[in-house]
Amino acid sequence: MRQSKLFPKTRKEAPSDAESINHKLLVRAGFIDQLMAGSWTLLPLGLRVVTKINNIIREEMNAIGGQEMQMPLLHPKNIWNETGRWETARDVMYQFKDAHDREFALSFTHEEIVMDILRKNIKSYQDLPVYVYQFSTKFRNELRAKSGILRGREFMMKDLYSAHVSEEDLMDYYEKVKGAYCKIFKRLGFNFKVTKASGGVFTDKFTHEFQVLTDAGEDTIYWKEEESEAINEEVFEGNKSEYKSAKSIEVGNIFPLGKHYAEKMNVTFVDKNGERKAVWFGSYGIGPTRVMGTLVEVNHDERGIMWPAVVAPFDVHILNIGENKEIKKKTETFYEKLQKENIEVLWDDRDLSAGEKFGDSDLIGIPVRLVVSEKTGEKVEWKERISNKTELLSLEEILKRLRGESK
Ligand code: ATP
Ligand code: MG
Repeated sequence: MRQSKLFPKTRKEAPSDAESINHKLLVRAGFIDQLMAGSWTLLPLGLRVVTKINNIIREEMNAIGGQEMQMPLLHPKNIWNETGRWETARDVMYQFKDAHDREFALSFTHEEIVMDILRKNIKSYQDLPVYVYQFSTKFRNELRAKSGILRGREFMMKDLYSAHVSEEDLMDYYEKVKGAYCKIFKRLGFNFKVTKASGGVFTDKFTHEFQVLTDAGEDTIYWKEEESEAINEEVFEGNKSEYKSAKSIEVGNIFPLGKHYAEKMNVTFVDKNGERKAVWFGSYGIGPTRVMGTLVEVNHDERGIMWPAVVAPFDVHILNIGENKEIKKKTETFYEKLQKENIEVLWDDRDLSAGEKFGDSDLIGIPVRLVVSEKTGEKVEWKERISNKTELLSLEEILKRLRGESK
């Protein structure tokens, strides 16, 4: 992609109402745009990052048998009345009437919708287990929509749902999902803790959250070095002096919901002995847009973002410096050769000063910067965003490194 064509261009100033780092940097660098508090456009660069995050999540969901589908976002009131959540989740749900006085809500989650699909399609134990997931928009009436893209009123969620013949089978799969989530957050390079937490409007049972350690977080978690799981402050009862604690951002949450939803909504199957039973149910969420914001909170410096290679909008940022036409031609040749090798390249082909190009490159945060100038001769200057070291390399050497590093 030629940067002269990229929409939009970077901005010198952060919006005056921006309080958090992810809000300031993602807006300045042209990844997101705010329509109103908690409501964001993913601009072309932002969509590239979220698509890569989603692809990592998708691989790990498919690896544990997940089948991707897509559910509606507009829900009738009666489905929410079946579990009582039309009333109990009123604070978080956007509810409204249409011109004919019919009542609807916008999706804040999808348990009831999945249950409805299951009861139409499950007959016997042979139809279970079921693992289905989607990537889709959730709407929530968030009071504190001040943390940039970390807390949207409308945001992206990957939600997986599982249905089982027994508690044992549910808990077995629950542990598998926990493992898949750990793989996802490791691939994203997060320093995170699996954390015991409460179930909010979902369940009165315990749940597990995936908490990324950072001072930008709104949550506080406690843990002991020798124990594998941390505890969220909201359910913590230990002696605080015996525990380590840190601020953290919740990027994922898994819920062993049990039989409650199936009993309320009459979702049953006939078991091996001909007995009719309620299905065991679990749900499992990750917020890809919050993940993008969290990546910025933990990977930035005073000049801009520092994307991990696995989710960076491009693998390489190539810059030609100076007004020399030969240099521009040479850069174009490099740009085309890299693209032929399936490397994703952003080329800053604009007639700007070296300072302006370097500034934009540091702000956008692509992991590798390549500079072509009169000083670089037949080679190209390689610099990684996370380092100050520069090296002169040939095209072959560059390709070798990129193949080892970015895929
Ligand atoms: P929080 O406690 O931060 O409000 P939650 O516990 O209500 O979040 P869940 O219902 O557990 O959220 O949703 C699953 C995942 O969806 C969360 O772990 C998070 O990654 C993401 N998520 C939840 N709310 C938001 C939001 N308002 N904006 C962006 N992502 C969100
Ligand atoms: Mg949660």
